[in-house]
Amino acid sequence: MMIRERILLENKKIVVVGLGVTGSYTALFLSACGADVTATDVKPAELIECREELEKAGVRIEAGGHTEELFNGADLVVVSPGVRTDTGLFKTIKHHTEVISDVELLSRLTDVPIIAVTGTNGKTTTTTLVADILTRAGIRTFTGGNIGVPALKFFEQDYELCLLELSSFQLENIRTLRPRVSVLLNITEDHMDRYHSFRDYVDAKFRIFMNQKEEDHRVVNIEDSVIREELERRGIKEQTLLPFSTKRELKEGVYLTGDNIVCRYAGRESVYPVEGIKIEGTHNLENIMAGIGVALVVGVDEGAVRQGIYSFRGLPHRMETVRELNGVRYINDSKSTNPGSLKRALEGLGGEGKRVVLIAGGKDKGMDFSGLKDVVDSRVKLLILIGDARDKLKRAGFGTRTLDAQGLEEAVLMARDNAEPGDTVLFSPGCASFDMFRDFEHRGNCFKEIVRGL
Ligand code: ADP
Repeated sequence: MMIRERILLENKKIVVVGLGVTGSYTALFLSACGADVTATDVKPAELIECREELEKAGVRIEAGGHTEELFNGADLVVVSPGVRTDTGLFKTIKHHTEVISDVELLSRLTDVPIIAVTGTNGKTTTTTLVADILTRAGIRTFTGGNIGVPALKFFEQDYELCLLELSSFQLENIRTLRPRVSVLLNITEDHMDRYHSFRDYVDAKFRIFMNQKEEDHRVVNIEDSVIREELERRGIKEQTLLPFSTKRELKEGVYLTGDNIVCRYAGRESVYPVEGIKIEGTHNLENIMAGIGVALVVGVDEGAVRQGIYSFRGLPHRMETVRELNGVRYINDSKSTNPGSLKRALEGLGGEGKRVVLIAGGKDKGMDFSGLKDVVDSRVKLLILIGDARDKLKRAGFGTRTLDAQGLEEAVLMARDNAEPGDTVLFSPGCASFDMFRDFEHRGNCFKEIVRGL
């Protein structure tokens, strides 16, 4: 433990809200820094996994909910990303105590430069790619945040750079976090069960720029219509960004032209042929272009960038080919949890005509699926629906033949029986997984197991 954390945190009364992986780590970290920590969760005590470890470390636990009194006299409240802070309780607490996310706390405790990646989709893919490039370039890089590694683990080693994947929920509770490099990949509808409006969601995403100074860098997808409109609305000029585009040549920035990615930055130009890139779809080229943008502004040598982008094979559960059987390719895209990622999955498959059997559905997050109609009707020969969102999906009015399946296994069997050689069976749910599965990984692993057993 460094001295700085101890000085800033010793004897401070801190309440940690939410005791999942991140919250538990945060509570243990704070306690190790000498803070007086109370941790609380709506879950009953027996469902809190690290309970014993927390108690041993001197953390007081208030399980099964929390009342306002718990927060009285606290110097600081640190909330987990899953916790809603727009409720009456938190509005009251915020009158007397600061409420922040763990990434904000991290940023207050270090001067190491932060690179932050956000967007509705592609965060983990881009963050992983950037981490790989930076590591190849010999930079000691910490990677954490929404990617599944608690941000405060940063303090376990001596790093030169701090790379964070940030969700809109984490961004809601930053105050001073200032990324030296920020990345905004795209904004499409998501989490409409948690936000009052799409406007609120866009505002949360744009908080990534909030504390950046002129000399900092903003790597931004300039072709995303929501982002473009919002930049205009806020009067943010393109000259202050490092833009990337799949559609047009840029004087400065990263763009796609024919079969090449071209980078123009600080008076230099470099070219990366698309051929040889192993991850599929234009959306993945966007992720790669964002990754190159970060590498350019950090000053990584071109060799490391080339090695990084050409060796990157993508991540499980994101357009992952499971197998080919009787001329039919089966793809697991379980991480597709919103209509935007489902749309990009269908667009990214290549080929012409209706050659896709799509399995979609899951838990609805208050989403609007009507924007999928054109792409589904032009690409999908059979739509198989699972989960709670089935009826909602049907109301999008697809013209494609649609079947209902009771569960994932039945859906896969229906897909197998209806697919012909040359077709693709795509599992891209476009919905959350929590109706039938623990999480997207559990859902994807179930799909793979069923497909391997065919
Ligand atoms: P996130 O961490 O933002 O959820 P992931 O990289 O895990 O992003 O990908 C989530 C889903 O979005 C997957 O279905 C993936 O195929 C799709 N996806 C990846 N990159 C993009 C992108 N740039 N635009 C749209 N969809 C994307």
